[in-house]
Amino acid sequence: MTTEIDIVVVGAGIAGSSAAAELAENTNVLLLDMEAQPGFHATGRSAAFFAPSYGNAIVRGITAASEHFYRKPPQGFTEVALIHSRDAVFIAREDQLAQLKEMENEIPLLTPLSIIDACAQVPILNREYVVAGLRDNLGGDLDVDAILQGYLRLFRKRGGQLLCKQKVKSLHYNSGVWTLKTDGQSISAPILVNAAGAWADVIAELAGVTKLGLQPMKRTAVLVDPNQSNDSAQNIDISQWPLVVDVDEQFYFKPDAGQILVSPADETPCDPCDAQPDEMDIAIAIDRFEKATSLNINRVNHSWSGLRTFAPDRNFVVGFDPRLSNFFWLAGQGGYGVQAAPGLAQLTNSVITGAKLTKQYSPVLNYRNELAPDRLLDSGHII
Ligand SMILES: Cc1cc2nc3c(=O)[nH]c(=O)nc-3n(C[C@H](O)[C@H](O)[C@H](O)COP(=O)(O)OP(=O)(O)OC[C@H]3O[C@@H](n4cnc5c(N)ncnc54)[C@H](O)[C@@H]3O)c2cc1C
Repeated sequence: MTTEIDIVVVGAGIAGSSAAAELAENTNVLLLDMEAQPGFHATGRSAAFFAPSYGNAIVRGITAASEHFYRKPPQGFTEVALIHSRDAVFIAREDQLAQLKEMENEIPLLTPLSIIDACAQVPILNREYVVAGLRDNLGGDLDVDAILQGYLRLFRKRGGQLLCKQKVKSLHYNSGVWTLKTDGQSISAPILVNAAGAWADVIAELAGVTKLGLQPMKRTAVLVDPNQSNDSAQNIDISQWPLVVDVDEQFYFKPDAGQILVSPADETPCDPCDAQPDEMDIAIAIDRFEKATSLNINRVNHSWSGLRTFAPDRNFVVGFDPRLSNFFWLAGQGGYGVQAAPGLAQLTNSVITGAKLTKQYSPVLNYRNELAPDRLLDSGHII
C-alpha cells in the first residue's frame, strides 16, 4: 500500500461504508470486502424501509437521529431523493388487540387507525381479519443503492480506498498494528473496524477471541403482481398504500415498483452464507398475505433472502472490544441497519476519533455504553 492506513474497515455493506465515509474525514481509511460489489449481502437484500416506530427504544432513538440525513442529505451526497414518504400501518386481529394497545402505549408517535381508514388506504384488507391499526406517518421507502453509492462517493472524495474481492483470512495484532491477510494482500493499520455483518463473529475468532454470540437470521421476501387475474379492467393502484405490518411481525407487505413485496417475517437462525429463499417460507408468505387480504396469489415473480444479524439482546454492537487492542465492533444491525446507518456511522466516528457530533446526532451518544460489546462478555481481558 502506498498510503499509510490509520483504520481498516472490514465489510462494505451499509454499516462499513457509512462508517468508513465518516471516519475518512480525518483519518486514512481502507475499506475491504470479500465480494466483487459492496452491498452484496444483507444491504442489497433489504425491504428498504425507514420506520421510526420499528424496533426497540435504542433502535428507534438511533433511527430518529438518522432521519434528518435521509430527508436532507449533505450537499453533493446524491442527486436523487433518498427517502420517499410512505406510512407504516401496524394491523391487528381481534386476538392481537392487547399487543396493539401495548405498542400504542409504548410508542407515542403512533396514532390509532380505524378499520375504515385502514381499508380506505388499503382496499384489499380483509375486514373479517383486521380489526384495528396504528399508523406511523414518518415512514418512507429508502433508496438503498443511492445511499450506499452516496457514502462510497463521499468516502472516495475524502481520500478513502475501497478494495473488493479481498476476503480477510487471517488477523494478527503486533506492536500496535493489525495485519490482515487476504489472498493477494497484506494490509496493516493500527485500528480495525469489524463491520462484517453476518460474519462479524468469524472476524472476532480470526482475531483470537471468542464470539459475542451474534446470530444471523434468514429473512425472505417475494414480489407478486397486484393484478393476479390478468384483467386490466381490475388494475389496482397500489402506489399510495402504506407498509402494512402484522403487529406481532408475522408478515408484512408494501408496494415495490408496481408490485407487492410480501415477507413472512421469518427469522431462521443459520450460519453466515449467501442466503437463498426456501419454498416453505415463500408458501408461508403467500398464505399469511392471502388470509389478511382479498387477493389470491397465483404466481410469485421473484423471491430472495438475506441475513439479519442480531446480538443476543437484539441491540446494535458498537464499540472497542475490551479483550483486544484497537478492535472496534460495528455489528448486530438486525433488521434496522439501513434506517439507522447515519446515526451508527456518526457514533462510530465519535468513539474512534473523538469527532464532535452535531446537535442532530448528539442523542446517539446516550446509547454508547448500552451498545458497547462489554455487555455481552462475562469478563473482559486485554490481550
Ligand atoms: C429481507 C430483509 C429485509 C430488510 N429490511 C430492512 C428495512 O426495511 N430497513 C432496514 O433498515 N433494514 C432492513 N434489513 C436489514 C438490513 O439489510 C441490515 O441490517 C443491513 O444491511 C446490515 O448491513 P451490514 O453492513 O452490517 O451487513 P452486510 O450488508 O451483510 O455487509 C457485511 C459485509 O461484510 C463482508 N464480509 C464478511 N466477511 C468478510 C471477510 N472475511 N472479508 C471481507 N469482507 C467480508 C460481506 O461481503 C458483506 O458485504 C433487512 C434485511 C433483510 C435480509
